Amino acid sequence: MLKAGIPLGRFFGISIKLHYSWFIIFVLVTWALATGYFPDSYPKWSLAAYWGIGVATSLLFFVSVLAHELSHSLVAQTAGIPVKSITLFVFGGVSQISKEPGSANTEFRMALAGPLSSLVLGGIFWGIHIAVKGASEPLAGLTFWLAWINAALAGFNLIPGFPMDGGRVLRSIIWWRTGNLRNSTRIASIIGRAIGYLFIFGGIFWIFWGNWLNGLWIALIGWFLETAAAGSYQQLAFQDILRGHKVSEVMTRECPAVSPKLTIEQLVHEYVLNSGRRCFPVVEDSHLLGLITLNDIKGVSREHRLTKTVKETMTPLEKLKSVQPNDDLANVLQLLTTEDINQLPVIENNNIVGMIARDNLLSFIRTRSELGM
Ligand SMILES: [Zn+2]
Repeated sequence: MLKAGIPLGRFFGISIKLHYSWFIIFVLVTWALATGYFPDSYPKWSLAAYWGIGVATSLLFFVSVLAHELSHSLVAQTAGIPVKSITLFVFGGVSQISKEPGSANTEFRMALAGPLSSLVLGGIFWGIHIAVKGASEPLAGLTFWLAWINAALAGFNLIPGFPMDGGRVLRSIIWWRTGNLRNSTRIASIIGRAIGYLFIFGGIFWIFWGNWLNGLWIALIGWFLETAAAGSYQQLAFQDILRGHKVSEVMTRECPAVSPKLTIEQLVHEYVLNSGRRCFPVVEDSHLLGLITLNDIKGVSREHRLTKTVKETMTPLEKLKSVQPNDDLANVLQLLTTEDINQLPVIENNNIVGMIARDNLLSFIRTRSELGM
């Protein structure tokens, strides 16, 4: 879902992206500030001031959310955990962190860094607010709202349900006390789901006996919390089933290779349509050159399919992520998820020996859970 985003540049080696849904929040926040909050609190400003300060406040709110996510990521990087990207979307930010923290201590520091930075930012805005209060009302209004929203951001993220920051802090403490990561995640996600349901029921109650808009918003947040908690626990359970098993156990061995010289039209008619496969290794003189997938093919418009070749369309070897037959399946699932791809070539001594796809992993998991293994 969060693959698409507008790149904003790199910070400390982390690429920052803006998901399209973020614009919804930007417009809503600006609109609510310029037509509701500021006119209600400060009736004497001009229309231009309401909108100008509204836009500026929204932008600084965006910087605040970014600072929160960046502090998680920077602590992760100092602990040796690479962070690929940060995407800002409708509910805040998501950091693409390539693996789970290796120790309770790292997790604790990583999780706490975000809310702490929000609290510090809130404090800074509050300090500026006190300083400019007598001098400029628009500046005072802007800093007051930002102080308040940063405190709220810290408070909301400290809700002790996994995968919220507070839930991660809780998980790291249980993990530290018991030494059992799986049980800690289970407890933290159960609490996360319980808090999610609490928000949902509280929201529904509010819809019928008070403010339906606020109620709806609270219920939505609850639904988001519940889904995230359930999802993150399921992912961990999947990892548990996969751990200790090798790529060679589930990979597809027969992979019809295609020539780089074929046109896309030929590829579609001679290989894709009658095999039903979604992915083909591109091989010339028994050297692997790259991989061509259904997604690559879909990117070529119909009129270009007669002339464009496989070589021009494929993902070349040097840009290709790959795994080895002896790699652990749990790491493969992680790789597929962080890279947001569906399949990986399995390579041994520069030769392609098979393909591994999400489907392979899913049927492996399904079979084992049906048999209760
Ligand atoms: Zn956070």
